[in-house]
Amino acid sequence: DLFYRQLPKVELHAHLNGSVSFSTIQKLMDRKPHLNIQHNMTAIRNGQKRTLDECFQVFKVIHQLVDTEEDILMVSKDVIREFADDGVKYLELRSTPREEKNSGMTKRSYIHTIMEAIRQCKNEGLDIEVRFLVAVDRRNGVEVAMETVKLAEEFMLATDGLVVGLDLSGDPTVSHGRDLLPALQKAKNCGLKLSLHLSEVPSQGEESELLLNIPPDRIGHGTFLHPEVGGSQSLVDQVRKNNIPLELCLTSNVKGQTVASYSEHHFLYWYQMEHPSVICTDDKGVFCTDLSQEYHLAASAFSLTQEDMWGHSFKAIDCIFAPDSIKQHLRQRWLELRPALF
Ligand code: 5GP
Repeated sequence: DLFYRQLPKVELHAHLNGSVSFSTIQKLMDRKPHLNIQHNMTAIRNGQKRTLDECFQVFKVIHQLVDTEEDILMVSKDVIREFADDGVKYLELRSTPREEKNSGMTKRSYIHTIMEAIRQCKNEGLDIEVRFLVAVDRRNGVEVAMETVKLAEEFMLATDGLVVGLDLSGDPTVSHGRDLLPALQKAKNCGLKLSLHLSEVPSQGEESELLLNIPPDRIGHGTFLHPEVGGSQSLVDQVRKNNIPLELCLTSNVKGQTVASYSEHHFLYWYQMEHPSVICTDDKGVFCTDLSQEYHLAASAFSLTQEDMWGHSFKAIDCIFAPDSIKQHLRQRWLELRPALF
């Protein structure tokens, strides 16, 4: 729909390797025909659903396709360009640094290459501000988490504000957040903003309570925080007391089957409470969506007007991790770019 495409948007929850489009996957498959990977192994089409566990298998396939610095550069530039084409004016990308013995890629060169992609896109004049969150995959344990925080801090200091924070993601059924607290605390103390996947699956309440005490600067998903779905009022109170925005990804949750249907998505719970939330894509490649479509789907599911969605997109600026000067600049641009209502 033209309105949602023209609407200036902020994207705050996008995993790099989950955001790789069909056409970029094709270029990667052409580079590595011996892997014998098919498109149906890297994306979940409309109407299809998978268990969350199966979703994590998909990332493993994509990681096989993206295993050199050259791949990372191409993937990052393509993803940034696609978000810009969709009307995203401010993007926070996140990715888990990986080393690949075969290609000589190190975790440091992985992040360095993404920084290079961001700079190249800027030099090419793309109309999008991009920042980066270094991701901790909870599967990899305490030592790797600490090492990743150190890398994130190093890049935050060296890149003049391109690295703004740390993400905690990965299979929520693996490991316990309790063990990761020291690493997350360290990140917070050195000035990295924290975006943590919380209560993405049921019965993570105890972990969420611990992690909310840090407190994080944003929450990924938070699907099972509220009492109606087995969370609790005290978790909701913790979120509200600290005014922590939620990053909400409708199609991802429906296709990953943690939410039964669009109209049952917890977007409505937080929206009715006027608690800050931001509609995001999560993995636009894997879930075959884009941010305009997610805005449109939310509007349809909850009978919101274009005016409401304009308000949602404008308020999303409050939730970005870049400093106030950037927020002010974006608010100015939003007013200039405001599309006519249809
Ligand atoms: P990457 O970090 O390699 O750029 O992007 C893929 C990774 O992001 C996955 O391996 C996983 O750790 C994380 N990820 C992507 N989507 C989700 C999600 O919906 N939930 C969680 N918990 N992690 C995700």
